[in-house]
Amino acid sequence: MPTHFFSSKLPNIGKSIFSEMSGLANEAKAINLSQGFPNFDCDPTLINLVNKHMVAGRNQYAPMAGTAELRTAIKHKIKTDRDIDIHKDKEICLTAGATQAIYTAISAIVQQQDEVICIDPSYDSYKPAIMANGGIPISYALSGPDYTIDWDSIEQLISKKTKLFILNNPHNPLGTTYSKEDLTTLGKLAEQYNFIVLSDEVYEHLVFDGKKHVSALDIPTLRNRSFVCYSFGKTFHITGWKMGYCIAAEPLMEEFKKLHQFTVFSVNTPAQFAIAEYLAEETWRSLPNFFQQKRDLLLEQLKDTPLKPSACQGTYFLTVNYSELSQKNDFEFAKQLIQDIGVATIPISVFYENPPEEKLLRICFAKTDDLLEEAGERFKSL
Ligand code: PMP
Ligand code: GLN
Repeated sequence: MPTHFFSSKLPNIGKSIFSEMSGLANEAKAINLSQGFPNFDCDPTLINLVNKHMVAGRNQYAPMAGTAELRTAIKHKIKTDRDIDIHKDKEICLTAGATQAIYTAISAIVQQQDEVICIDPSYDSYKPAIMANGGIPISYALSGPDYTIDWDSIEQLISKKTKLFILNNPHNPLGTTYSKEDLTTLGKLAEQYNFIVLSDEVYEHLVFDGKKHVSALDIPTLRNRSFVCYSFGKTFHITGWKMGYCIAAEPLMEEFKKLHQFTVFSVNTPAQFAIAEYLAEETWRSLPNFFQQKRDLLLEQLKDTPLKPSACQGTYFLTVNYSELSQKNDFEFAKQLIQDIGVATIPISVFYENPPEEKLLRICFAKTDDLLEEAGERFKSL
């Protein structure tokens, strides 16, 4: 088809790195530690609950923002987790995964030529969503070994056009977390320069070593000027269900729902009823230990290999430096690992506008112990 009838909104965007690397892993029948999803199933109770609600005839459209049952359960969860009151009718919207929540929040706020500050390496969906809405991503690059944010440098990036700031905490792909001081500083800047914050907190329950996750909801200055996005995919091992939600103060949520209403309208009804019931079991409380054990198993496997891990405080990803092994770029080296040892990982440079010199790959450890051990044996052969 001739392309001169239209111009692409996203001329430089191709296949996502997750599709790309999972595709290569499948072709080579490699162990897939690239795309972030568990290789084990969710709790059968959850599946039985979906079945129960389908059989009970809950198969038609849900209310636009989500069922009252699920919004009530989410409100209750946030109250017990964080002692924060969320208005269940005015401040919650169920979405088709966090990806949709993020896209809808960006579309609701970003207009032509608005600037959005992104922390690189940034999750792959942010910048295309900004650009499709006419916005301009402004990148701040994190660098090792600590990958902390220097807030004075952030302040230098703020301009009159700054409309939105995107924070991902815990951070994918780096596995870092941000402190109360970080979020308080962000809140001060947001008030002073009058911008909105999108806080991607899909890994809120995957925080290790006894640390507590700090949400934008916990910071009073951010509570009223943030969209906070969550994913049941991460919390219940159901990435394929594409169920998530956004929390925002009423004026922001009103704008969010205007777009949600005409892009998605409402999300999977039986899944909403099932999750509403399942939330009462509070299974997420065991997630930090569950995934910390897997992180530690992977670290043990990597101990005598040339892959040098960075600190991992959260998420189910660990980054490793491979510079002892190769000076190839990370995409080429990730492809080589698939061919040489049959293990797929994710190159980190694709998440940067200006990639640093560091040679890093991301390894997903949301995998059964036997698979992590097998991958470990292969890493040891390097
Ligand atoms: N944000 C981050 C940082 C992620 O890693 C992911 C992928 N899990 C998402 C958003 C998207 O979540 P979902 O699968 O619920 O759309
Ligand atoms: N969030 C997942 C990851 O970081 C990927 C999700 C996707 O493939 N879109 O690996």
